[in-house]
Amino acid sequence: IEIVAVPFFNESNDLRGLVFVFHDITELKHVDQIRKDFVANVSHELKTPVTSIKGFAETMLDDDAIEPAMIHKFLTIIYKESDRLQSLIHDLLELTKLEQEEFKVELKRINFSVIVNDCVTFVKELAHKRDLELKLNVDSDLFLTGDGARLKQVILNLLYNAISYSKDHGQIVVTAKRTHPWIELTIKDNGIGIPEEMIDRIFERFYRVDQARSRETGGTGLGLAIVKHIVEAHEGVIEVDSQVDIGTTFKILIPITHGLS
Ligand code: ADP
Repeated sequence: IEIVAVPFFNESNDLRGLVFVFHDITELKHVDQIRKDFVANVSHELKTPVTSIKGFAETMLDDDAIEPAMIHKFLTIIYKESDRLQSLIHDLLELTKLEQEEFKVELKRINFSVIVNDCVTFVKELAHKRDLELKLNVDSDLFLTGDGARLKQVILNLLYNAISYSKDHGQIVVTAKRTHPWIELTIKDNGIGIPEEMIDRIFERFYRVDQARSRETGGTGLGLAIVKHIVEAHEGVIEVDSQVDIGTTFKILIPITHGLS
């Protein structure tokens, strides 16, 4: 609580009393703390790849007799870490854009079925490389009012996660159908799952169940925060159901017509 004393005077300017104003600044403090944590997290996330890039470049510069095989190994690391930096910067800029108050989705009448199918085609090769089966159960001509490019971003993020957090020979099932007044999309995997006590936190920026695994798969820890923003900008809902070692299902509901609520 912040207390401010405001004096008040009569016509001859004599002090007549004080008015105490009590401001509850708990919420403000909380927002400020989130902002500080975010800046600390961003700095840490950026520092890790930069340190690694610099270190390996330095080692190569300092050692004249370095073997070509070693050079190749170090350059591979440098490439991977730069790639990681690029994804981080990309996702950070996306998130900043989405969080601006004036951000609005570009609404058009779109065929959601086509968008889902395009996204699945896009990740098909990666899924097969990982020996994962992709099953589709997408009704055709699911029209809705939405932002096609942004919804693509949502679906791709969820598909990439389903692939990254799958187990060997896993299966991913994508279902899209109309459940009036919504279009419902579910992406179900039978992967590693999320511990119950962590489910509520996965939409937070940089929150990861397993730091090492997320890093390894090139995750930035920002994907689901971006997904949630986009779904909510469509006045939609996102839900997750998960069990460790059994799998995870993400469900999104997007209103068929925007602006009814
Ligand atoms: P990341 O870049 O780490 O994947 P996200 O924001 O996309 O970041 O996801 C946050 C965390 O939620 C992940 O690090 C992972 O621990 C968990 N997660 C997301 N999707 C799945 C999934 N399909 N199965 C298991 N865990 C998941």
